[in-house]
Amino acid sequence: MKKLAVCLTLSLAALVPFGQDSKAAANFTDVGTTHRAQAEIYYLVEGGITSGVSETRFVPEQQVTRVQAAAMLGRTLNLNGEQRATNFKDVGKNNFASGYIQQLVDKKIISGYADGSFKPNNTLSRGEMALLIGHTFDYNASSVSVAAGSLISKGISQGVADGSFGVSQSINRGDFAVFLARSINADFRTADNEKFEHDAYVDTKDGSKLNLRTGPNTTYPSIGSIPSGKIVSYSYSVGDWVYITSDNVKGFVHSAYLQSDKPSDKPVVTPPTPTPPVKPDPTPVPTPPGKKPLSDITVVIDAGHGGWDPGSSGNGFIEKNVTLNVAKKMEKYYAKVPMKAIMTRTDDTYISPSARGAYPKKVKGDIFVSIHTNSHTGGAANGTETFYYTKSAAVNPNVSQSKALAQYVQNRQLEAWGLTDRGVKEGNFAVLRENNVPAVLAELGFITNKKDIGIMGTEAGREKMARGLFLATLDYYYYYENRKDVLPLYSTVNATPSGKLH
Ligand SMILES: [Zn+2]
Repeated sequence: MKKLAVCLTLSLAALVPFGQDSKAAANFTDVGTTHRAQAEIYYLVEGGITSGVSETRFVPEQQVTRVQAAAMLGRTLNLNGEQRATNFKDVGKNNFASGYIQQLVDKKIISGYADGSFKPNNTLSRGEMALLIGHTFDYNASSVSVAAGSLISKGISQGVADGSFGVSQSINRGDFAVFLARSINADFRTADNEKFEHDAYVDTKDGSKLNLRTGPNTTYPSIGSIPSGKIVSYSYSVGDWVYITSDNVKGFVHSAYLQSDKPSDKPVVTPPTPTPPVKPDPTPVPTPPGKKPLSDITVVIDAGHGGWDPGSSGNGFIEKNVTLNVAKKMEKYYAKVPMKAIMTRTDDTYISPSARGAYPKKVKGDIFVSIHTNSHTGGAANGTETFYYTKSAAVNPNVSQSKALAQYVQNRQLEAWGLTDRGVKEGNFAVLRENNVPAVLAELGFITNKKDIGIMGTEAGREKMARGLFLATLDYYYYYENRKDVLPLYSTVNATPSGKLH
């Protein structure tokens, strides 16, 4: 679900001589060579992550505001900054950072206040800064004190004069630049604990060389180029970019060009497991009284992301492609049963979350299954989870139905892939919230995790998952809707009902 970064600004073909693609150097009269934050400020400016208040002044002593911090973090993650309407009454579409703010909210990195405001011009406190950086870089940031501890242990920040972290103190632009630059690039840190513990192959797909850059976007200059097929070691990621070392040079490359398999040794694509041509049970069960016939039931299958929004990526895979592949496979299972399936997208198209949520109403759908893959900076997190919306029954009233559907979906996912069980969870996603039918969002596994991609990355694995999601919809109707007429449908895939879970 996460990582809405626009990661398609890759200029592999444009192998320019080192350094020439950096912007004209900024020159701030108030950030001289002896300024404590000089290197960090110019580093962020070079990558287009921040800028001066004018061509000649950065004003490092000015307090940083919430809107300025949001814009810098959004640019750090290469989010799409296109201005848009937001959830907040005080951040209109015309606010310069409206796109970044809304995307950071969608990714649960930043939030507003209970009264529906964002207070964009409030100054940022050190506590808020610790949480924001913690969420942006996927540190442990379960609370302000835990986030502050992460920043201190990584050599990103220190406490204040009285020995505390000074959580309520405001933070100025210079200090924020220091903390942000250190979070992005471990070279700036006062303690460099990051290890390059994992290896990956560079795979540029077309044999070109991969630019190694000084920062996590294509505005940063290239400091080297790595031939496709070479093994590099990586440490952590910043959005979709990864901090690596190759020939003792440290820098950033885009994760789409790293993979765990040697490019030339890529496994041959296995054909999908054919659906057994089994006819449904010869004695169909009649439609229960008061229920509509199974042939009138439509399952809406939502392949997450698409178009300019690739979703997450890792290990050489991109979420929008994985979700579409599984969705198409899932759809095929309905061809042999009376129930129907409709997909929100069947190609590489962008559809907004709201339009996806409104889709069942548009096509008279009955249940909604959104397919996603998860991601985690550093790649450690793994497993399967399923979300449903519960916050306000007034918005989507199908709370108990959605929860039951989520339980059946989670169960069949675990059966299909056998990954870590992260559980059934409440999730406030627009595709679920702005929906009028029982709706769930399945995070199949972590695209960034080596173990999870081991099955997610195979045709056979995705076929198993599609079959499992299909079976979960049968389980829901069989148990929750108490429809015995669903029972013969299981025989189309030689399966049996899961057992009652809700
Ligand atoms: Zn997703």
